[in-house]
Amino acid sequence: MEILHTERALRAAIWRWRGSGETIGFVPTMGALHDGHLSLVRLARRHASKVVASIYVNPTQFAEGEDLDTYPRDLSGDARKLKAAGCDLVFAPRGSLYRDSHATKITVSGAALGLETDFRPHFFDGVALIVTKLLNLVAPDAAVFGEKDYQQLLTIRTLTADLNMPVKIIGAPIIREADGLAMSSRNQYLGPQARARAGKLNVILRQCSAKIRGGAEIEAATDAARKALLDAGFSKIDYVACADEHTLALMSGALKSRRARLLVAAHMPVNGRDDVRLIDNMAV
Ligand code: AMP
Repeated sequence: MEILHTERALRAAIWRWRGSGETIGFVPTMGALHDGHLSLVRLARRHASKVVASIYVNPTQFAEGEDLDTYPRDLSGDARKLKAAGCDLVFAPRGSLYRDSHATKITVSGAALGLETDFRPHFFDGVALIVTKLLNLVAPDAAVFGEKDYQQLLTIRTLTADLNMPVKIIGAPIIREADGLAMSSRNQYLGPQARARAGKLNVILRQCSAKIRGGAEIEAATDAARKALLDAGFSKIDYVACADEHTLALMSGALKSRRARLLVAAHMPVNGRDDVRLIDNMAV
């Protein structure tokens, strides 16, 4: 497995592969890799003859006061895991991928509006910008994104379709810990007590989903989930929402369509640091 740090070296490797008829699958990440990320690499492998992963903590998707500076970084550990998962090339740029004179913005709407955007207004514009840059650099046939970040996956599908990018976007299922907690690089911020409580997020989400599927009014089921999350030790609930699985238009009343997704974002307090914000989602 090659580890490349510059745009020029990356382009040369891609050019070589293209010349010998290889197809390319791509997995963008911010590093601090866990089994969720590695499942994306294995999925990419099934869609292409070569797999590229990138490791880059993208500053344009972090807001003031978020964890850009303290985001966990472990390039040698990540490289070991990627190699074992069958990755062929890691692109880990040294320094910024943005020129000092960078002047281009991307504004996304559609499924990007609401939910995460109500709490992190510039997040998906930043994600769209870095994903566009990375897709232009790697020029993959297919790129894999996790359903863990469900709204992000829909946003990227829209972005690549709207801008005629010649790449197939593949969604990958959420990989979870034994108690149901979705794996996340930020889970390592949780101490033992908060980690134990955090497992409740998925339990409560599943209960809420079962109620809605069973005919309960969406407002009643999501209100009950909010209360259960507070009782379980979460300090603040950003949203518990049932939405159309393609458009993320919010649903209310009894479930009329089977195409619904339940999404949650909630804060878990941790001794000695800011709350850890956890997200999860599932098909209803
Ligand atoms: P990140 O490094 O957090 O930017 O995530 C990189 C990619 O891994 C994104 O497409 C995420 O949706 C995906 N991902 C993160 N956690 C998981 C998980 N538990 N299961 C599946 N995919 C995940």
